Amino acid sequence: MPELPEVETIRLFLDRSVIGRTITAIEGSRPTIDRDQLAPLPGRKVTGTARHGKFLFVDLDPGSSLVFHFGMTGDLTLVPGDKPDPAYTRAVISFDDHSRLAFTDSRRFGRLGWVPDRAAFVAGKRLGPDGLTLVPAQFLSIATRSRRRVKLFLLDQHRIAGIGNIYADEILFQAGIRPLSLLHGCDPVRLSLLAAALPHVLRTAVDRAADFSAYPETWIIPYRARGESCPCCGGAVDRVMVAGRYAYFCPSCQE
Ligand SMILES: [Zn+2]
Repeated sequence: MPELPEVETIRLFLDRSVIGRTITAIEGSRPTIDRDQLAPLPGRKVTGTARHGKFLFVDLDPGSSLVFHFGMTGDLTLVPGDKPDPAYTRAVISFDDHSRLAFTDSRRFGRLGWVPDRAAFVAGKRLGPDGLTLVPAQFLSIATRSRRRVKLFLLDQHRIAGIGNIYADEILFQAGIRPLSLLHGCDPVRLSLLAAALPHVLRTAVDRAADFSAYPETWIIPYRARGESCPCCGGAVDRVMVAGRYAYFCPSCQE
């Protein structure tokens, strides 16, 4: 599932590729898009991009934004005018230079919509602050009010926006905290490590374009599977079910 680093990587790509282009058509079908909602948008120029958590915005002139959520398998590919759409293309945005932005999504949980005001959209969704810009003091003020298990807290988009199953595991591995630990039971030193690990993991992932093969050798992400060994101590990686999904952790390195 695309999490904050994957969505930010797509945003940076769009920043380099589609700003200044004018939309000539938007095609696709439900449930990915509502064609009636997007019908007035051809003729609008792309002026910028933004992101909050896992939501990506493409700003249009004069005002308003396209909003993407990538669900489980969504992605965007810029296709030159003479090339066919990639497999699993669910929606296509065509531009005045004959290039197209293809929204691919094999599982069909992704959505493309339009919002008049992205700040109002974020407020309406009651999203927490974005994980990439969260400073440790801000994290601690949110975390110390929670009585939840730490992994559930990290996954709650209303508390902090952008973290999903995979990066939550990495943040907890880097902080040395087990996924089912209760936040209010964590000692202050561990909590400070967590506050520092969160933006560090997300920033490092974005800097490496969300490419798992480029992640540091001390990260657990490449070893999130049964039978793998911990990259730090060599012990067996364990897993536990949290909110219907497996959380992977090292029983030796995480308390
Ligand atoms: Zn270990």
